Amino acid sequence: MVRIRRGTVVGIVATALPLVVAALVAKGLFPGAGERLVTLFLINVVAVLGIGVYSGNSGIISFGNVGFMAVGAYASGLLTINPVVQKTALPHLPEWLMGWGMSFLPALLVALVVVVLVAVAIGVPVARLGGSSASICTLGFLVIVHVVLVASSDFTRGSQTFFGIPRAVNLWVALPFAVLAVAIARAYRDSAAGLKLRASREDEIASTAVGVDVRLHRFLAWVLGALLSGAAGVLFAHFIGAFSPKDFYFNMTFMLLAMLILGGITTVSGAVVGAAIIMVIVELLRKLEGGVDLGFLALPTVFGLTDIGIGLAILLVMYRLQDGILGVREIDEQVPFLKRLSAGAAKPHERQPVQVPPAGTGTLRVENLGRRFSGLVALERADFEIRPGLVTGLIGPNGAGKSTLINSVSGVVPPSTGRVMIDGVDVASLPVHRVPVSGLARTFQNIRLFRNLTVLENVTVAASAIAGDRDPADIAREALAEVGLGEVAGQLAGTLSYGAQRRLEIARALALKPRYLLLDEPAAGMNPAETQELMAVLDRIRTRHRLGLLVVEHDLKLIMRLCDIVVVLNKGQQIAMDTPAEIQADPAVIEAYIGRRRAAAAPANAAPRPGLDPQAAGKPA
Ligand code: ADP
Ligand code: MG
Repeated sequence: MVRIRRGTVVGIVATALPLVVAALVAKGLFPGAGERLVTLFLINVVAVLGIGVYSGNSGIISFGNVGFMAVGAYASGLLTINPVVQKTALPHLPEWLMGWGMSFLPALLVALVVVVLVAVAIGVPVARLGGSSASICTLGFLVIVHVVLVASSDFTRGSQTFFGIPRAVNLWVALPFAVLAVAIARAYRDSAAGLKLRASREDEIASTAVGVDVRLHRFLAWVLGALLSGAAGVLFAHFIGAFSPKDFYFNMTFMLLAMLILGGITTVSGAVVGAAIIMVIVELLRKLEGGVDLGFLALPTVFGLTDIGIGLAILLVMYRLQDGILGVREIDEQVPFLKRLSAGAAKPHERQPVQVPPAGTGTLRVENLGRRFSGLVALERADFEIRPGLVTGLIGPNGAGKSTLINSVSGVVPPSTGRVMIDGVDVASLPVHRVPVSGLARTFQNIRLFRNLTVLENVTVAASAIAGDRDPADIAREALAEVGLGEVAGQLAGTLSYGAQRRLEIARALALKPRYLLLDEPAAGMNPAETQELMAVLDRIRTRHRLGLLVVEHDLKLIMRLCDIVVVLNKGQQIAMDTPAEIQADPAVIEAYIGRRRAAAAPANAAPRPGLDPQAAGKPA
């Protein structure tokens, strides 16, 4: 089921309303030139959002979307061109393409089908890539489209102008497209799919660990973005009526990216603001470019003044505001009045009881698990169980292989040998984003949050992996309440204190409703107060959810207090597995882990250091 939140609607209205106003003002006050300018602006909005849907949400800059504009423009051009003009302009056109003379809307639809087919074909390889490799691929696509257009002169007149296209687009045609583009882009951004892609933009590994199929969502956004770009290309073609391949190349790509980046690449409102500002700059500078006589001063012709102006504007803005003018949040998430509108009438907060999954059954079996890193044996023959309702401690010196074990069990780093069995399924053989859905969640040693998403969004990403017919945001709120972060749900995750960030990671894992939860050094770097808070949270989770917990921890006091069973690793080998009391007495453990440090740290009569000394740290006898 698709849920449209109130905030999404407010956002769409707040972003689209200025477009309507601009159109009305242009029509009323500046018919003619002003009207044309605003029409072009509206088409640019569609084009910028085409890039924004993919690039803004995935974090991968696309240079390729103008290629889709070109495909759309030429496809609809071929279908709508006046048959009489066509005979002279394109004499070598194959028969099946001749004489269609379609009208604008049907041609638009056919052109969009062509665009989507091309996008799907290109999207399969592009979605496998991330970061700059994907960007380079999109650039390659742009170049290929250009070369093909120039080379296919029977269809396109090559590098010559393609003309005779009915000018079907005016202000009133462009306006609904721009409004629709805003609505589509914003609804996608706020949807579960958009949220998942944004999470992968913030941290790809962490997103897969909460069930995001990064490749799938990159692909979907790529195709949706291509659709908008294609529509922009069709609009553009029918607005100017004549064009050539170079109109859809680097200049336009640069200008559209400038609009997107200037306003703020991650938001829809940013794209609109950026488009408006760049259009104004270009218009002003174009007037100056040809030289101006101010009466007292004659400015000379400056070649390329508009491009220089765009470049300078970007430099200036980026210097002060790295995330663009609007930053990483939509306008309606920043303006207090709109924020109140989005929240709606404060409904009495009905506290739902926390839904506790049924007591766990079965176990997670780590069988003979091993991992090598080109020669280095990081982990070998780890073999133990994680049982529901019990806390298993995992200890060992630095470099013992604890994180490698958690990474292998959770599929982030596939094991070289062995199996991880849940309910008779080897989860190590699943694609990594499927592991969380099968009941296994984790946190990371180095906090991996989606920093530019809100606290609530961080957890909602995870909840939407398992939500079923419940609203993921509700599940997320429950998880946040459990770790004591309910009050800060609307803040950006990156702004939380360190201890709160650690707890947020736990809430995000809990929202997957896991049966097994692996925590990699949850208390690392915490001060004593934060550690206390964390302990309370862990105690609560353990009694309330009866999930199987695996906790990696250096603080032995914490381990001894919390754990039912302790597994000890040393140099990748599992050297012991026993109750905390037995572990403290195990000579091999003392030798490997504690003994040397104690011997080095403490003279015979000195007070033992708490946290390192198992005697000092032990439970009361
Ligand atoms: P721990 O978490 O117990 O401190 P780790 O599991 O992080 O230990 O590391 C175990 C060993 O594996 C270390 O020697 C470490 O350098 C090595 N290692 C871990 N991850 C990688 C990796 N991605 N590539 C190469 N070596 C690694
Ligand atoms: Mg580690």
